[in-house]
Amino acid sequence: MKCAVVGGGLLGLTFAYRLTGLGHAVEVFESAPELGGLTCAHDYGPFTWDRFYHCILPQDQALIGLLGEIGLGAELRWRTTGTGYWAGGRFFDMNGNADFLRFPLLSFIDKGRLGATIVYATRFADPFQLYGVTAEEWLTKTCGRRTYEVFWRPLLKAKFGTFHDQVAAVFIWATLTRLFGARAGAGAKEQLGYASGGYARILGTLARKLGERGATIHLRAPVTGIERIPGANGGADTCDVVWTHPEGGPGRARFDQVFFTAPTGLAAHVVSDDLKPHVDRMASDFPTSHAYLGVACAVLALKKPLTPYYVLNIGDESVELTGVIEMTNLVDRGAETAGRSLVYLPRYLGADDERLAAPDRELLDTLVGRGLKRIFPDFSESDIDYAGVHRARYVQPLPLVGSAPADAKKLAGFERPFQIVNTSMLTCATLNNNEVVSMVDGYVERHGEAFRAP
Ligand SMILES: Cc1cc2nc3c(=O)[nH]c(=O)nc-3n(C[C@H](O)[C@H](O)[C@H](O)COP(=O)(O)OP(=O)(O)OC[C@H]3O[C@@H](n4cnc5c(N)ncnc54)[C@H](O)[C@@H]3O)c2cc1C
Repeated sequence: MKCAVVGGGLLGLTFAYRLTGLGHAVEVFESAPELGGLTCAHDYGPFTWDRFYHCILPQDQALIGLLGEIGLGAELRWRTTGTGYWAGGRFFDMNGNADFLRFPLLSFIDKGRLGATIVYATRFADPFQLYGVTAEEWLTKTCGRRTYEVFWRPLLKAKFGTFHDQVAAVFIWATLTRLFGARAGAGAKEQLGYASGGYARILGTLARKLGERGATIHLRAPVTGIERIPGANGGADTCDVVWTHPEGGPGRARFDQVFFTAPTGLAAHVVSDDLKPHVDRMASDFPTSHAYLGVACAVLALKKPLTPYYVLNIGDESVELTGVIEMTNLVDRGAETAGRSLVYLPRYLGADDERLAAPDRELLDTLVGRGLKRIFPDFSESDIDYAGVHRARYVQPLPLVGSAPADAKKLAGFERPFQIVNTSMLTCATLNNNEVVSMVDGYVERHGEAFRAP
């Protein structure tokens, strides 16, 4: 088959890699000047690293498997990292049971209920049920109102902003299951990993492998139209893909099959009328696609370390940040970031939030001034070697209450000649690249026969 993959993020690239592995001819269309979407890299001057922060967990077997296949297995590095929590003007280590037991903002009984909730959540038999109840209701019932208000609500507000009271409990289940899987045992600290060279290396290697398998990658090629072409003489329907060529003119090419990996709502803008029922069906089968979280993220390269933590969670609603991620407490500062401390200051916002369109300077002032400096009042700008802002409007399909897939067992099907496959189809999961690779692998395995059919 001649296939088009729309979207050159990790999902699209993994899909393209699997399709070429099955012998199909593939062309990837990416609207940005570089591959990677949310994983794409940035040139920070003396070094290149991811635009947003990414870590790998030891249990990310699908992702680790893919990295092994493309020859990057030996480039994985693992390190024990620290997690912190900032509230009431103080830092608290959160690296295991002993730290948890010492945590002074909750009573002994509150901590017991919180610990029991974590165990209960990670063993919960049917997480699909948890789409039907808000995180607030579920956590209040399991941990108690006080623990919800002191501990969970600030975290939910930091992550989801105005959506915090509409998010389904399944998000808590998925997060706890993923986080606590990263710890080898009771009291154990978190082991996290990365590939040396970051996602720039992963994306570069995937692109090279795709080239070796004969795939074509179109960059700066936003797809503006996808039209169904009825098959002649009883033959199968095909699709024309229309895109804007880097040189300015439109491009058009015919494909047996098109896979669209960007958000479902964006597909609605580019497909011809006779493909709209497919888009509508995917939107109603996978309702998390109805609302997205975006992110505005300041990135600082500092002359010296800021915290001992990889992640500092924030339990204080006056700090206008989702967290502080000090990447160089995971990645080797000497080898990867030219000796600089690389710090990300993300603020998640609804995809329609106008602050996502604010000028860089304004966002930087907010994220540093009303974020970082509320935690570190003595932070000196003379420590900054580089400061910039990255933003993305469509990051996470929102698991709001009632957004369960129409059929709990339903997974994306395979329709000729156009099919959407995107992260709104991740169910009972957090958004991460292991889930992305695992979903693509599962999809290709389920529909492998159909791909082989004439
Ligand atoms: C702040 C942040 C932190 C994260 N941390 C982690 C982490 O620690 N670990 C982890 O595993 N994951 C993490 N992730 C998640 C990870 O980045 C995503 O799982 C992954 O990037 C999703 O890839 P995707 O291909 O589905 O989407 P995207 O990366 O969004 O790719 C979609 C692509 O489609 C392109 N596109 C859209 N419309 C068109 C069109 N009409 N024509 C052509 N191209 C089009 C876009 O330009 C984009 O490149 C994080 C993400 C963010 C934002």
